[in-house]
This record gives sequence, structure tokens and C-alpha cells, in this order.
Amino acid sequence: MKLPRTIAALGALFLSLLAASTTNAFDTVVLDPGHGGIDEGTAWYRVKEKDTTLAVALRLEKLLQNEGIKCVLTRRTDTYISLDDRVKIANRHPHSLLLSIHFDASSRTGASGFSTYYFSQSPSGRFVAQTIQEALDESHDTPNRGIGSQDYAVLVRTLGCAVLVECGFLSNKAEAGQFASAEGQQWLAEALLLGIVRAKPIIINDPPETQIAKCEVYAKRLEEKEHQRQAAVAPAKSGTPHKPASKKK
Ligand SMILES: [Zn+2]
Repeated sequence: MKLPRTIAALGALFLSLLAASTTNAFDTVVLDPGHGGIDEGTAWYRVKEKDTTLAVALRLEKLLQNEGIKCVLTRRTDTYISLDDRVKIANRHPHSLLLSIHFDASSRTGASGFSTYYFSQSPSGRFVAQTIQEALDESHDTPNRGIGSQDYAVLVRTLGCAVLVECGFLSNKAEAGQFASAEGQQWLAEALLLGIVRAKPIIINDPPETQIAKCEVYAKRLEEKEHQRQAAVAPAKSGTPHKPASKKK
């Protein structure tokens, strides 16, 4: 039984969440270029998600520095960083905004546009997501697919305000070409900067319920993981193979 370890991990998270007050009053932006190294993300037309996310993050870092906004990257090179390590890096800066940068893909290759995600019970996350989404909408003519709530690990386990942007569809040939180009990456970085700069002075505090809800989601995930681990080591009682859980961002 590994439950004590699970409970200890959960207890540590709970205490750290109680100690932190989630707000978008951030003094640092943690840029999280999705994927990296052996994890290429989605790849279409020889454009790899891990490369476009990093290129946009490096451009955005320069723009933020020009604005005098402190900026930290979860990776600066083509290396694999686990979700745990991404969260750890963000949580070294509890008064930060975590901006996780990704690109979408669909088997319907005509799909296009951008969307921004936040943790469902985080008003600060929702506000920043909406502000960034509006900035992207003003800056470009690809479809605005709106904001949405998700329980991605980087949104649930980050102590500060956190959003995840799906900047466009690499499965769409036109968008893949655009975001593989320096111009497209610069446009994106400038639009994300605009959203961040607009969101920064308007302070939205999350209620204590946000932290409790994050703990509950995380606890449920740990429990599921534990059940899967036990199922994997237990002798098979039926012919049904165990399916591993899909990876959460
Ligand atoms: Zn991704």
C-alpha cells in the first residue's frame, strides 16, 4: 500500500495551497513552452509543437523583459520536462502567472483558431484567460474558439494564477506554416504580451474555495493513479486489460 505517501503528498500540497493566496496580482510570469525533448507534442507538415511553443516563449520572454516584467521559463532548450517539474518551477514563484503555451491538432484538418483554458473555480484564471483571448482575437483573424475550463495538471497544481493557451492548429496547413515562421511566432508573442499587460493591473483574488477545489481534483487524481497502480500489480482476474490513463497537461 502506498497510501501514506499519497496522503503525505496531498497534505503537503494542501498546506502550501493554504499558505498561498491565488490572485492575478503577479510579479513574475512563468512561461511554460509545452512538450520538449522526446515529447514532441503534435507534429504536422514537419512542424513540431515542441519547437513552436519554445520559439514563441523565447520571443515573449524578450518582450516581457522590455516591459520590465520578470519572467522565468520552465525550459529554454529542446529538453523533456515532466509536468511535476513544470509545476515545481512555477511554484517557486507563488505570486506568478503561469502561461502554458501549446498548439492544437485535429483529425479535421480544416479546424483552426485559438482557445485559452483556466481552472474552473479560479476567477483570477478565468479573468486572465478572457483577457488573453481578447488580445489574441484583436490581433489576428483566425477563429476565436473561446475560453474554457479544464483540470490540466499545470492549472490545478500551480499555486499562483495559471492559464493554458492553445495558440492555433498545427493540423491546419495554413496555421502550421504561419506558426513555423518568425513573423507568425512574433505576432503570437506580441498578442500574448498585450493580454498579460492588460491583465496585470486588474486584481482578481480567488476565494479560499478555489484552493480547496484544486486539492479535491488533485486528491481524486492521486487516488485514480493509486487504483491503476494496484490494478497493474494485482494478478489479472479477468481477461480485460488495464488501460493507462491519458496524459494530462
Ligand atoms: Zn500540447
